[in-house]
Amino acid sequence: MDFSLTKEQTAFRDSVREFARQELNPGANERDRGGHFPAEAWKKCAEFGIFGLPLPAEYGGSNRNMLEVILATEALGYGCEDNGLLFAIGAQIWSMQMPILIFGSAEQKKQWLPRFIAGESIGAHSVSEPEAGSDIFSLRTNATRNGSSWLLNGQKSWTTNAPVADVLLVMTTVDASLGDKGLTTFLIEKCTPGLTVNGPLEKMGMRTAMMGDLVLRDCPASDENLLGKMGSGSAIFNSSMEWERAFILAPAVGAMQRELERCIQFARRREQFGKPIGSYQSVSNKLVEMHMRLETSRLLLYRGAWMKSQRKRLTSEPSETKLHISESWVQNCLDAIQLHGARGYMVESGLEKQLRDALASRIYSGTSEIQQVILAAYLGL
Ligand SMILES: Cc1cc2nc3c(=O)[nH]c(=O)nc-3n(C[C@H](O)[C@H](O)[C@H](O)COP(=O)(O)OP(=O)(O)OC[C@H]3O[C@@H](n4cnc5c(N)ncnc54)[C@H](O)[C@@H]3O)c2cc1C
Repeated sequence: MDFSLTKEQTAFRDSVREFARQELNPGANERDRGGHFPAEAWKKCAEFGIFGLPLPAEYGGSNRNMLEVILATEALGYGCEDNGLLFAIGAQIWSMQMPILIFGSAEQKKQWLPRFIAGESIGAHSVSEPEAGSDIFSLRTNATRNGSSWLLNGQKSWTTNAPVADVLLVMTTVDASLGDKGLTTFLIEKCTPGLTVNGPLEKMGMRTAMMGDLVLRDCPASDENLLGKMGSGSAIFNSSMEWERAFILAPAVGAMQRELERCIQFARRREQFGKPIGSYQSVSNKLVEMHMRLETSRLLLYRGAWMKSQRKRLTSEPSETKLHISESWVQNCLDAIQLHGARGYMVESGLEKQLRDALASRIYSGTSEIQQVILAAYLGL
């Protein structure tokens, strides 16, 4: 493995950091308080080329290799404090664009990918249900044949981007008794009669990422709406989770880097008992632990990017990466607050917002406990 960066790659990373700092941060705190979707920032990301980073040129993408895609998305997290925006962007790239690129028909790719890349359309990936969260293959939203077309009925929960989406990837079953073999995926446009999107739901963190619930009542779909074949839903879900778990936390690594640098500066500057607090070992040890969590998180992230750039299939790596980065991010946020004392507990410090945002990462894309279940199986347990 070679993680050394060329001059061009370093310059590209720095340009993304600068873009994120200048263009995406203004108004981020107000948006967080109000729970507003950053439509303008989304457009700016499209203009900068963020959505097209991993996609082929024929759809308007820049077809960067995965290490560069990850450098860019990590750099977004370093420069931009609006984690909700970056999470919403990641949800679209990894769980909507990639499934369409891999499983979509030529027409579906032509219809949606250029629009996502240009920021003209937004996509959402809707799998979870009120009674099917971790146990996702027990989902109940059903697709029944109606002549030559389909009718979808059911409910979906906690779908990121749903309230602002133009198209939703909806996971259904054609026959619940078939388990994962019955899973079937449709691309449903928001304006389809029979589909209601409720939201945005009020959340603890990631408040600028819009989340909604779906109700499908005799929602019609044709064979052209099928993503992949009937019964290929579990392959689509597994592929989406491979991308999402491996890469959606790239911005978190950037955020951890920014917060660590801030904590180090504070520990050098803040004096108590006549000395900088960083000179006390219980403080410097905390900083070293934060640094180690950051470095190991980055290594796991880059390993996945390197494997993808070598066209290798990821197996246990996405769960290892997702589990380690999300737990590290939460712990680093807690440590950053502790290290700043009362200042860190104040809303204006922005550190409590980072913690609220980080906590979501232990739940979405499969909880930490579910990543442990998956990894235990890889260990033969
Ligand atoms: C910010 C955010 C964004 C989201 N975005 C989307 C989205 O875009 N699309 C979508 O489809 N879903 C989305 N979700 C939903 C998310 O995927 C689910 O919340 C998650 O899979 C867990 O399901 P649940 O909430 O029903 O918890 P449950 O499955 O009910 O789990 C409750 C608790 O029990 C634990 N648990 C369950 N089973 C086991 C087990 N076998 N072993 C050990 N522990 C277990 C869990 O770890 C958890 O702690 C999002 C969630 C959040 C918070």
